[in-house]
Amino acid sequence: MRMYDIIRKKRDGGELSRAEIDFFVGGYTSGVIPDYQASALCMAIFLKGMTNEETLALTEAIRDSGNKPDFSEIRGTRVDKHSTGGVGDKTSLVVGPVVSACGLTVAKISGRGLGHTGGTVDKLEAIPGFRTALTGKEFSSVVNRTGIAIVGQSGEIAPADKKLYALRDVTATVESMPLIASSIMGKKLAAGDDVILLDVKTGSGSFLKSYENARALAEIMVDIGKRAGKKTAALITDMDSPLGNEIGNSNEVVEAVRTLRCEGPADLTLLCRTLAANILMLAGAGNEEECFKLVDTALTSGLAYRKLAEMVSAQGGDASFIEDTSKFGRAPFSAEFTAGADGYISGVDAEGYGRTSLLLGAGRNTISDSIDPLAGVTLLKKRGDRVSAGEPVAILMTSDKERIPAAMSEISRSTFYSDKKPDIPPIILGRAD
Ligand code: URA
Repeated sequence: MRMYDIIRKKRDGGELSRAEIDFFVGGYTSGVIPDYQASALCMAIFLKGMTNEETLALTEAIRDSGNKPDFSEIRGTRVDKHSTGGVGDKTSLVVGPVVSACGLTVAKISGRGLGHTGGTVDKLEAIPGFRTALTGKEFSSVVNRTGIAIVGQSGEIAPADKKLYALRDVTATVESMPLIASSIMGKKLAAGDDVILLDVKTGSGSFLKSYENARALAEIMVDIGKRAGKKTAALITDMDSPLGNEIGNSNEVVEAVRTLRCEGPADLTLLCRTLAANILMLAGAGNEEECFKLVDTALTSGLAYRKLAEMVSAQGGDASFIEDTSKFGRAPFSAEFTAGADGYISGVDAEGYGRTSLLLGAGRNTISDSIDPLAGVTLLKKRGDRVSAGEPVAILMTSDKERIPAAMSEISRSTFYSDKKPDIPPIILGRAD
């Protein structure tokens, strides 16, 4: 079998066999197939798509690409939530501690920033000392001690996804339904969770912009999860505007902490409560009303907030940053983005807001780029807010002031005004289960 023939077959719209998909995933993971051929195949998949059978085969090949991690020592019902990627999406930092405080086990494998979206692992690494790379034994031990651990993908768990994820990030091949579905479900199945709740984003800041495509992605992922015997459901949620008021890394951790202290923005708080309640329902903890009550108690009692601090400490991080978030400090350079017109902010291009944060240094352009943890955007006004021309709408933050002009143009291009107050859609748009 030759990689050249596999690329050509997909380029011409053919259906790959399971053997061809296994050959590609195995060869790329071991390093025999180079990045340039893997990129070409990802682009062919991006352009030509995959059948459900191909997507399932790719998911299973990714799932089986590493050593089967032995998490048998981990106690309890293992639950996970995974988002398809959004701007300002720090829900894992809130939902994980909440459901853990409710007695479920969170042994979570998260990703880094992808395209214009941020990643939980990059955000956690903004906390000094926090280790996102734990050995299997360390991971199990932290989970058993604290009920929660969040790590990045190690070489052990679905290493094919780790490599493909980084490659897609820099080759414009992220926004593909089969590549997203297999990436997410491949690592979820490898991690061996019992309950999987998917947060499938739709709108300008998501990878699949239309509701129909988001629903199709939700359905295929739920189907893959159920076929594997996992309790799986998906919520389809609005990503037409950044979530919360912070986009970046350390500033998103700060906003997550505020949300755990019941001082978070309304949209983020509602989404986190709903995701957490749905995980509890899937895990059989009660009906909707009972599960929302459990979530609210975990938040108002401070248990969920303390759970985050406990996890940070157990993973080597300095938990005093969670107790006193001013310790994160501020980026050395900042600039105000001001409204270009009187009226309402009628809408934003959330992807453009994500790119603004990236341009400030909060994300990567190449696989080896490092992240500026203090870079990002604070939103002072959001979709639907009234503004006067010249009024501050956002603060751009960075450690490299040369980055400000391009970021300013991007956010300016991505903000729209009108005389009429826009209708704001609900945050939860649908579900698949
Ligand atoms: N999240 C993932 O883990 N993979 C994707 O491809 C997109 C979002």
